[in-house]
Amino acid sequence: MDDDLTPIRRQYLEIKEKYPHALLFFRLGDFYETFDADAETASRELDIVLTSRNVAKGSRIPMAGIPYHAAETYIGRLIQRGYHVAVCDQVGEPINGLMPRRVTRVITPGTVVEPGMLSPTRNNYLACPVVQGRRIAVAFVDITTGEFRVTEFETDDAVHAVREELTRLGPAEVLLPEGADFYPEGPGARTAWPVWRFEAGRCEQALLHHFESASLEGFGLAKRSAAVCAAGVLLQYLQETQPAALEIIREIGTYSRSEFMILDPATRRGLELTETLRTGDEKGSLLGVLDLTVTPMGGRLLRQWILQPLLDLGKIHMRQAEVQAFFDAGLSRTAFRQSLHGLDDLERLANRIGSGNAVPRDLAALRDSISNLPKVAEAIDGLTIEKGQALRAPDLCADLLDLLHQALPDDPPATLSQTGVIRPLYSEELDRVVEGAREAREWIAGLETKEKSRTGIKTLRVGYNKIFGYYIEVSRGQVQSVPENYIRKQTLVNGERYITPEMKEYETRVLSAEEQIREIESRLFRDLCTRIGARRNLLLETARIIAELDCVSALAEVAGKHDYVRPEVVEEEVLDIREGRHPVVERFLSGERFVPNDLTLEEGEIIRVITGPNMSGKSTYLRQAALLCLMAQIGSFVPAHSAKVGLVDRIFTRIGAQDEIHAGQSTFMVEMVETANILHHATGRSLLIFDEVGRGTSTYDGVSIAWAMIEFIHNHPRLRARTLFATHYHELIRLASMLPGVRNYNVSVAEERGTVVFLHRIVPGGADRSYGIHVAQMAGMPRPTIARAKEILGELESGAGGGKIEMGQPAQLQLFADATPLMDELNALDLSSMTPLEALSKLFSWQKKYGSRS
Ligand code: ATP
Repeated sequence: MDDDLTPIRRQYLEIKEKYPHALLFFRLGDFYETFDADAETASRELDIVLTSRNVAKGSRIPMAGIPYHAAETYIGRLIQRGYHVAVCDQVGEPINGLMPRRVTRVITPGTVVEPGMLSPTRNNYLACPVVQGRRIAVAFVDITTGEFRVTEFETDDAVHAVREELTRLGPAEVLLPEGADFYPEGPGARTAWPVWRFEAGRCEQALLHHFESASLEGFGLAKRSAAVCAAGVLLQYLQETQPAALEIIREIGTYSRSEFMILDPATRRGLELTETLRTGDEKGSLLGVLDLTVTPMGGRLLRQWILQPLLDLGKIHMRQAEVQAFFDAGLSRTAFRQSLHGLDDLERLANRIGSGNAVPRDLAALRDSISNLPKVAEAIDGLTIEKGQALRAPDLCADLLDLLHQALPDDPPATLSQTGVIRPLYSEELDRVVEGAREAREWIAGLETKEKSRTGIKTLRVGYNKIFGYYIEVSRGQVQSVPENYIRKQTLVNGERYITPEMKEYETRVLSAEEQIREIESRLFRDLCTRIGARRNLLLETARIIAELDCVSALAEVAGKHDYVRPEVVEEEVLDIREGRHPVVERFLSGERFVPNDLTLEEGEIIRVITGPNMSGKSTYLRQAALLCLMAQIGSFVPAHSAKVGLVDRIFTRIGAQDEIHAGQSTFMVEMVETANILHHATGRSLLIFDEVGRGTSTYDGVSIAWAMIEFIHNHPRLRARTLFATHYHELIRLASMLPGVRNYNVSVAEERGTVVFLHRIVPGGADRSYGIHVAQMAGMPRPTIARAKEILGELESGAGGGKIEMGQPAQLQLFADATPLMDELNALDLSSMTPLEALSKLFSWQKKYGSRS
């Protein structure tokens, strides 16, 4: 290092060397400063002034700073943009004129604890996937709630499995070994970490050390080396970035993906479970309709429930029973939900307090929340909800409440830098200092009157400024009357300013008392936090029960408000929905009434092919079926007259051509990849939803693929899954006469004097027309285009198209009559062992071979 450097520059460089990947916020007085390239980044991203600073003779470097009290907002912005910020604070007293400094924490997207940087209704997960051959593990932790879990399983397709699991979690940050390529896309900011951090021995040690245990057996992690690595990496990362957070991680839970219905990313998006496809808003999604939760922890839990429908009948029935209890007791439900308004985010509060990150207002929020608990318990007193018992315990957190009442004033300041954090009478030591300061302040307050009467100077005034502290000001005309003990300090245009030794003594008493008060208060505050932190488990358990009750009562509220019924969820593979409605579409129809539809798969029916005009409601019907099954398995009631749903292990959807052009993949390729995924992974218990598969390619290719898929699902012994298949290809109607498990349905349309009315009613039988031109007209296409399109359609339908683009029945049927070799080849394919790429290249070869016939 250059010898000419200033000591502070040298200190900076030593610290910065250890945090090459983070922006270093270096505390200098009242500012956090950034230097060099960090300063350029900070200035650009935060729109703050870039200045420069002397660091050696004749050498200046870029610098940009922010006031320390505004750090949270600025850091929040950087984190949101995926940066890491290392916060370097001043610690202790100066040594040889240089303040000691050290990095107190590194803030990354997955290790944020500041409430202002977090969404109240979303977990902030830090996740780590590990791939070891066919074994995959995913561990995740939320340091704001203390949740720490891991799963391990086998798969043939690591990229897919990792993406699937991480999409379900929606982590804020994902830790990956440097150079890893198994998570090319998906949610969360990527943090590449050295490969040696992922070594099995090191990870195992991290876990054993953290949990102070000699073996991993008790955690269900013995012989699960991928899971041990994933979890161990997370602990090491927290050790490095947020050591205080480790305090609140008291346990690790393993989970099995077989506990929940797996929803792959395409399905989660296509069904708009938590956000809409077009705008990404929660409003307009299933969550948007169901989320009438009141508390933030309830909101977070409901989101988890929606993304993790249950597979265990017993658990589903239990949730249903709780929803039913709230559903039947409207008054209690209202009272209960009302009482929840008095609760803050107990879960995050308890964790902030336990990990030493709390501010005085957090304790006040905890106090107010605990004092509202009896009201919450009272509201569900008459309900048969087992969980509620835990809230009814008369002394639940009562001792904590007493302590908080004694220690905290009604409205404590926001931070510890202000005084007034502790209530009088809580600590004698504090009261003594406060009293001393009060007396001194009173003495100063009385000084002006006293001095006026002593000196007879009417214009005498006592003031205060930052440079001199307290002073006595006398106007020019009166200066000759000042007493002897006044010491002149400053001359003004119109007068003089003085001090007296006695006044300075009182001033020192006031100022040093404030310092002392702050010191005592923060000691008492930390002590309070430790005592409350010791009861963290009780608080978290209470928070968990409240979150669950919040969710079930919200589901009951939705059910009551929008006329839902309790579905019968059973083991057999049935699907019988009478007068079902789409939970979201029915809420957003303006003026029109939603037309309910039945979905009763009759004996032997496996695949329902639904044809019908554009805009008639096919997609709505399909998604409705998927959503109702999903709702049933999260324990919710459903929008229908009645519903009987056989457990579904996975819902797969392939819905339309969407705005999901992945890097380097065409829409059609994405469609085929997703379709292949469904055919590979679906089981007889799955629900398959296909909306216009094949639309992204030529008609013949599209029909062929759709046809082959239906045959495959129908005939493959592993599959035979309940399937809804909406299509524009009327050719597929023929399948019903060839395959016994296929049924045709269509959406009925009324034609009245040349205009078409969509009735949105699904009826048995195939459709014969698309009414596409009618929809184009509705969409405002220019009249001449519409007129011309009608002309062409007429020609085509009458067979006058020169045989070139014949869309009518004969040509289509011809395709399959003629295509025996193609069909043979199709049937011979083993789709379950084919990769999407092989499928695509097969299609290309067919197009070459058979395409010229058309
Ligand atoms: P396309 O083939 O063009 O994709 P589609 O047949 O899939 O169309 P949907 O997207 O399901 O049609 O529905 C179109 C619109 O019709 C919906 O946005 C909704 O406003 C209305 N709609 C659908 N189903 C119903 C219903 N059951 N009751 C009332 N309105 C409905």
